Amino acid sequence: METALYIHIPFCLRKCDYCDFYSVLFDGDVARRYMEALRRELLLRRHEIGQLRTIFIGGGTPTVLKGEDLAEFMQFIVQNLELATDVEITTEANPLTVPPQKLALLKSAGINRLSLGVQSFDDAILRRLGRVHDGNQAGRAIEAVAKVFSNYSIDLLYAVTGQSLDCWYSTLVEAVACGPCHVSAYELTIEPSTPLARTGVVLPHEDVAVEMFDLAADYLTRSGYIHYEISNHARPGCQCLHNLNYWRGGGYVGVGAGAHSYTAGRRFFNIADVAHYITAISDDTLPIEGLVEITPQIAQQEAILLGLRTIEGVRAVISPVIDELQRQGLVSFKDGVLSLTHRGMLVSNQVIGQIIAAGDVELREDIDTK
Ligand code: SF4
Repeated sequence: METALYIHIPFCLRKCDYCDFYSVLFDGDVARRYMEALRRELLLRRHEIGQLRTIFIGGGTPTVLKGEDLAEFMQFIVQNLELATDVEITTEANPLTVPPQKLALLKSAGINRLSLGVQSFDDAILRRLGRVHDGNQAGRAIEAVAKVFSNYSIDLLYAVTGQSLDCWYSTLVEAVACGPCHVSAYELTIEPSTPLARTGVVLPHEDVAVEMFDLAADYLTRSGYIHYEISNHARPGCQCLHNLNYWRGGGYVGVGAGAHSYTAGRRFFNIADVAHYITAISDDTLPIEGLVEITPQIAQQEAILLGLRTIEGVRAVISPVIDELQRQGLVSFKDGVLSLTHRGMLVSNQVIGQIIAAGDVELREDIDTK
């Protein structure tokens, strides 16, 4: 039985030009039927869910729903699932969907962490990304969130076409000044199916992206954040427990259209189509679209891939590739724990790729790193 639950609410006010998550434009009637289907899926899969330590309501933009509807959904969860007393319950939100009354309602319904998609405070950058809000609206939304939630996170994007190092620095400074206890800084990538890809836009050179990564890591660390995962920075005690579970290779149940689950050694995902999802669930059929059995070899590769993203690293046995990467200053290997150095994080894809390709890294469970 899993202790982490992901709930996908795939509705947005507008589709951002770079986004390849499964989401559709918000429609009140469809959303009402979808939320009913989510309740049914949760009941159908209740046997997979144990006492929950983390719940993550993602999307999409879950907060496009009315506060009352989200609060009612939370009430259903509390009544039908078992929650740990210190459960972390996060919802994602967009700056245009967090009026003060809704925030208060979400808090009293049990949501205790909010992740706000800000991306930038620069209007030109936000327009280029196709975001629905401007920089001032993002700033006002953060103020409103901070009045209600002490545990909230801001998402930012860097390496956007036309974004200078100064512009990125200003965004970081403004973000830190707002006082979030968690900041996620993601490098923009162009996914083939997005409107941004169709414009033929060219991203800044890789060296610029590396410089921006470095700037964020340096500035946020100097501002008191721990760089605990490649793209994530948190004040002490504010790491996202739900995501830590993913990176540690923990199981989770995912409900909703397009949601992924990892449970009992199998990874599977639901159909990414709201209409099909609702129809299948109304027949009490699980809308599973794909399933992968996780062999020990795949599990080991995933553990390396995910574990090395965090400062915790992975427990391993020394091998020639570790030796070589250590010599190059890209990994650290101490007391049986393998992790990326700051330099290694700058080129994490290459380093992790090299470790997996070498195929000679053996993971261990028996080394106490505490
Ligand atoms: S708000 Fe988030 S989920 Fe919705 S389109 Fe934009 S990036 Fe994608």
